[in-house]
This record gives sequence, C-alpha cells and structure tokens, in this order.
Amino acid sequence: MRARLKSFMELERIASIEGLGDERKCAIFRVKTEILKTMTSDLLEKGFYWILPVMLSRATDPLWPDPGASIEKRPELEVYGVRVKAMQSMILHKRVLVSLGPERFFIYSPNIRIERRDRALTGRHLYEFTQLEVEVAYARMEDIFKIYEDLIAKSIRAVKERLRDELKLLGRDGIEVPETPFKVFKRREVEERYGADWELKLSRDLRNPAWVTDIPREFYDYEDEEAGEWRNFDLILPEGYGEVISGGEREYEYEKMLRKIERDGLRRENYEFILNLAKRGLLKPSAGAGLGVERFIAYVCGVRHVAEVQPFPRIPGIVSEL
Ligand code: ASP
Ligand code: MG
Repeated sequence: MRARLKSFMELERIASIEGLGDERKCAIFRVKTEILKTMTSDLLEKGFYWILPVMLSRATDPLWPDPGASIEKRPELEVYGVRVKAMQSMILHKRVLVSLGPERFFIYSPNIRIERRDRALTGRHLYEFTQLEVEVAYARMEDIFKIYEDLIAKSIRAVKERLRDELKLLGRDGIEVPETPFKVFKRREVEERYGADWELKLSRDLRNPAWVTDIPREFYDYEDEEAGEWRNFDLILPEGYGEVISGGEREYEYEKMLRKIERDGLRRENYEFILNLAKRGLLKPSAGAGLGVERFIAYVCGVRHVAEVQPFPRIPGIVSEL
C-alpha cells in the first residue's frame, strides 16, 4: 500500500534537487528508462506512428466538466499577436490527426495542469507531467483496453526481469505482473459500493489494475444516448495509487457535439475546427486514451509521491529552484 505523506517538510525534501544523484534516484531513473523503452517498442511493433507533441496552441482540452480536475489557472500567453494556451492534453489534436492523418499513433505529450496547492499532499498530483497518448481510428473501448494492458504487463515484466536489484533497493521486489485482461467495473457499480469518491477506496481494495467505464465528463467522449451510458473509462491502479489512464470512444457528429459544447457552457469558437471537420463528415470515429507516465512509474517504484520520479519535481504549490 502506498505510504501517505504527512507534512510539508517531507514535500520540501522531495521537491529539492539535493538527492538527485543518490542511489535511490538512479534506481528510479533506470526503472523509468526500462518502462519507456518497453512501451515505445511495443507500440512500434504494433505499427503505431510516433508523433511528437505540441506545447502551445489556440485550443486545448477544456478539462471540464471533469470530476477529477482541480485546475486553479489555465496558462496563456501571446505569441505573434495570438493568444495561445499551454497544453492540458492533446485530445483535440489527436482527434484532428486521427481523422486527417495516420489512423493509429502515440505521443509522449507534456501537459501543464496548474492543480490547486491543496493537492500537494495527495502524492498523486503534479503541475507538469507527461501522458502517453494513443488514438486509433474506428477503434472501440475494448481495443484500447488491450493496448494498455499489454503496455502495463510487458513493462512490469521487463522491469522485474532486468532490474531486480533496483526493485530490491526501492523495497518493491514484491510487485507482481498483473493478470490480463483486467476486470471492468461500471461507474454506477463502484459508486454504489464506495460512494461518490470511489477512486481511492476502490484503488485500496484492488490487487490488480481495473477499468471503470461510463464516467460523465468532457464533450469529446462518446455518449450512447439510447443506453444512457458514456463509452469512456479510467484505469485504476491498486494500493492507493488511483487513476492512471483516462480515455474513451469519441464523438464525431456535428449536431451532437455542438449540443454538448453548449450544455457544458464552453466557448464554441475554441472548437470550431473540430466542428467544421464534423460538419463536413471528415471527423472519423476513434478511441484512445492517455496514461500518466509519472504515475505509472511511481506505482512500479512504490514511491510515496509521484514527484519522486521526476528529476525536477513539479509538486502543486511548490516551485523549486530549477
Ligand atoms: N488523454 C485523455 C484522453 O485521451 C484525456 C485526458 O487527458 O484526460 O481521453
Ligand atoms: Mg480527462
């Protein structure tokens, strides 16, 4: 079970670059390297294109309405006389690319999410992190489950086989390769059992990662209106590590997206390019997701705070020297 953090003193120690060269940090960075290598190779073997990220854009993920988000500020700046936003996720770019360009690709995408500072002690939040984003044209949720189940099982197996000493040093040699396929729960089912804040309670009860589907959130995830269900999901890690992947099947119909954008109180002009593609019948149905890279590495290493896997920790509320 992930040990809880109790004080800001502990956070300041984690945020400092003092321990950057010590044995423990080196072990974490070796685990990180092995995980990135395994995941990248697996996606390349499966025929995915490797796309590089954008970091500033006129439009980004609204992260609204999202039950998990606690954004206190959305950084914008002016370049060449145009207001641009820091990427909160590349979902909008993924939808355009998968429709007009390669039909399956992945991106290591840096995201800036200025979380409220009271999230510092959760051990699970950062204000800069990386998502391993995947998007596949005409895919269903279940196809995306399989892709990430492979990535997770293969990378944990690789770390166990090749980095035994590092896992021992981190006190994590007990980590098991999870059994696949992972269990799938409906959000209503876990809500009934654990209440509205089900994420961490479920996480603490799990022995193996599990999917939770049908989560009301941003307009871009597909709603099956007849069944009254969202075709989207989160992956919840065991031991209190919580959510590590969000994704879903996507909306592609003009009228429906417009209705949802209005329902959410979003500014239509931010999504005009996607709406235009949809209107012209060019927005392809797709499914995809993003994995929180640091969160996954934190789980494999068994660390208390996700910032421990960053060389330059980005803890909400603590802006360190570098
Ligand atoms: N990356 C996620 C997705 O593909 C969106 C998010 O960042 O929450 O759905
Ligand atoms: Mg999201």
